[in-house]
Amino acid sequence: MAETLKLDALIFGGGVAGLWLLNRLRNEGYSAWLMEQDQLGAGQSIASQGMIHGGIKYALGGKLTSASTAIADMPAHWKQCLTGDGDVDLRGCNLLSDSYFMWPRDSLRSRLNAFLGSKALEAKVDKVASENYPTFFKNHIQGALYQLQDIVLDVPSLIHTLAENQPEAIFKIDWQQAALEKNPDGGINELKFSNGTVIQARHFIFCCGAGTQSLMDDNQFDFTKMQRRPLSMVMVKHAIEEPVFVHCVSDKLSMTPEVTITSHRNAAGEPVWYLGGELAEHGARQSEGELIETARNKLTPLFPWCDFSKARWGTFAIDRAEQKRPDGTRPDGISIAESHNLMVCWPTKLTLAPNLANTILNKMQAANNVAGTSAEPSPPDFLQRPELASTPWEQF
Ligand SMILES: Cc1cc2nc3c(=O)[nH]c(=O)nc-3n(C[C@H](O)[C@H](O)[C@H](O)COP(=O)(O)OP(=O)(O)OC[C@H]3O[C@@H](n4cnc5c(N)ncnc54)[C@H](O)[C@@H]3O)c2cc1C
Repeated sequence: MAETLKLDALIFGGGVAGLWLLNRLRNEGYSAWLMEQDQLGAGQSIASQGMIHGGIKYALGGKLTSASTAIADMPAHWKQCLTGDGDVDLRGCNLLSDSYFMWPRDSLRSRLNAFLGSKALEAKVDKVASENYPTFFKNHIQGALYQLQDIVLDVPSLIHTLAENQPEAIFKIDWQQAALEKNPDGGINELKFSNGTVIQARHFIFCCGAGTQSLMDDNQFDFTKMQRRPLSMVMVKHAIEEPVFVHCVSDKLSMTPEVTITSHRNAAGEPVWYLGGELAEHGARQSEGELIETARNKLTPLFPWCDFSKARWGTFAIDRAEQKRPDGTRPDGISIAESHNLMVCWPTKLTLAPNLANTILNKMQAANNVAGTSAEPSPPDFLQRPELASTPWEQF
């Protein structure tokens, strides 16, 4: 039977931004549901390296940018959530590493980069004594190694935990069977399904990553635009058991580490390195073969004690999706564009999902949207649950 269901908020997109927001709003007593068109985490979130940055990456040029200030408190925020004491319960999420390292290698320039970065962030970077080097580096490297406050999360378990916290509020949407209906004033009135069921909400929130622009275009919204910044990540499957979590800082005065390495394991338990940083940015302009060659030529002299002769190499291309900036550079922090009862959001970094959700919550509270004013309706039977996406290294 066709029904009209009323909510405080209807979120579109089940990446980290939408899922975190759903958790925050529901924890505060708001009736909120999430609609995902594909799989939960599909897109950038499941492809991310899972690093919760404290901002050093953005301070490598030596000055404290607004990006590094916005992000500096985030590792502490996430750590609280991981122990169950934060604003979202992440006790089901696995921590891959409780620290991250920065290795300026031997060049004077890169040492300077690291030093200036550490000064800019004051107590957030520690120089590691050689006896405390992680096993992977022990007895192999000369010079300084820095430990950052960053942590690394296992993203599939993060997405799973965020979804399992709110199983009754997450649904799969088939846009062939549903459409947004606009108000005469230009806001969104409702989501209408072809069987006649209608969901009305006080706030409609788009957290659709790279899917945002087409959702906007399909509904003739043009109050904000999206930009894509392509990356081509490299995956290396090998037999090196010790995990590695390190930014290799380049010789140039660059804001981006030359290579950023995180270690993962696939379902078969095989170790896989996932490589980002400048390598992945430049890699987006290379063929797969060229990029693998570049990566091999970079890694072999960096880690002469590692045997890559039997390693399997692969690449994974994906775009970062952000609010458009005139110069196409990365936004400094989260982005929220508003028109009537619609908010269009990009967290810019996985790290900043809590920040995005808190800002939206504040906006809803400022709009006098008091939580729990209407009882949450029962979900209609025809709505299904989306599955969880799998990582690039699982498919490789
Ligand atoms: C390779 C890579 C590595 C990264 N590493 C890090 C890192 O280590 N640390 C960090 O802080 N950040 C990292 N980032 C950035 C981070 O991943 C993103 O900022 C973040 O995941 C964006 O989350 P999101 O929920 O906005 O978008 P997404 O994760 O892209 O999710 C969007 C979701 O919306 C769904 N969707 C799309 N269109 C529609 C529609 N019309 N209706 C319903 N649903 C829709 C999609 O299927 C998807 O599930 C990385 C990004 C990339 C690409």
